Amino acid sequence: MRLTLFNNTKITKGSKRSLICDTYKQVYFVMPNSVIYFLDSLNNNSIESLIRKFPENEKVINDYINFFISNKLGFLTHEKLKNQFVKPNDDFESTSTITNSIIEVSKLTKPYLKRILFQLFELGCCHIELRFLLKFSNADIQILKKILILFPQISFQIIGLANINIHIKVWDTLLKGNKNFASLLLFNFNTDLLNRNNCPDKFFFSESTSFSRKNCGLIESGYFTINENHFNESLSFNSCLNKKISIDEFGDVKNCPSMSHSFGNIFKLNLLEIVQKKEFLKYWYIKKDNIEVCNICEFRNICTDCRAYLQTPSNIFSKPLKCGYDPTTAVWNDWHTSKISLLAISFYQF
Ligand code: SF4
Ligand code: SF4
Repeated sequence: MRLTLFNNTKITKGSKRSLICDTYKQVYFVMPNSVIYFLDSLNNNSIESLIRKFPENEKVINDYINFFISNKLGFLTHEKLKNQFVKPNDDFESTSTITNSIIEVSKLTKPYLKRILFQLFELGCCHIELRFLLKFSNADIQILKKILILFPQISFQIIGLANINIHIKVWDTLLKGNKNFASLLLFNFNTDLLNRNNCPDKFFFSESTSFSRKNCGLIESGYFTINENHFNESLSFNSCLNKKISIDEFGDVKNCPSMSHSFGNIFKLNLLEIVQKKEFLKYWYIKKDNIEVCNICEFRNICTDCRAYLQTPSNIFSKPLKCGYDPTTAVWNDWHTSKISLLAISFYQF
């Protein structure tokens, strides 16, 4: 018999451990690296011949087989059928020029918002994060209502500062009434206002009184993304900045609002002109395999690759600053207190 893995079972070998991802159920299993040697051996051997070759490891072999079968990561097939299954295509495919965007909505950019969104729509963008930098007003709610109706193909994530005068029910109606309203994150949120039993889906809040672009880029296991698209994209491209375009509070067009380099201003240039600049695409091709430390990490294909905050700011291939994981020891530490990050913390003024 042969063990055949389902196409949605993805393996990543790290320096100390390996990761088995089920990109369909969006779960992962951390395993010892011996699982890789086990799977490699099974490429050239049936289960029976492997046990014959390594009788002392029969229990381990059977345990691994049971693990893959019971977690629906693979199935047993007859020896004769071993070449009948199509190998998965791990290529990342997207017909859109731009797939995602961050827009900082400020006094300056707000009047241009509709124009920017039309340009993004023409580029094929399907996910937009709108960061409202000022406290939400009733006028903002009206703007959001119009936007959500005008662009049903685009999913919107909204972030901003709560306004005590805008009742949670207003947000609830907006969230429930618009399938393309992906999520809402409110800062400076007074939890007394919330009847937790009626907390709308896709609604998140923080009691922190302010928010800034410096909140972004945090790497924690809770933020891992375990879907096929993200996994395949990170094999060949940057998992945050590929096909991303951002507009900061001054209208400057960047890869990410937290980066300093501007490729032009939205008040003067069209986004299409900017995405045609070779330099703009530079970060899209920096994948995790190119990043120091990350290239030996088992989480590298489900993790975000922040290029705005780096452990060594002068080195674009340096590990993300806000990650405390050490793949050589498999231990998560606090990135704030890591000696190696001290210079960068002071450089970025955290
Ligand atoms: S590069 Fe970093 S700061 Fe910028 S959007 Fe990505 S994660 Fe956030
Ligand atoms: S070391 Fe790199 S790949 Fe691993 S969790 Fe941290 S940022 Fe992600």
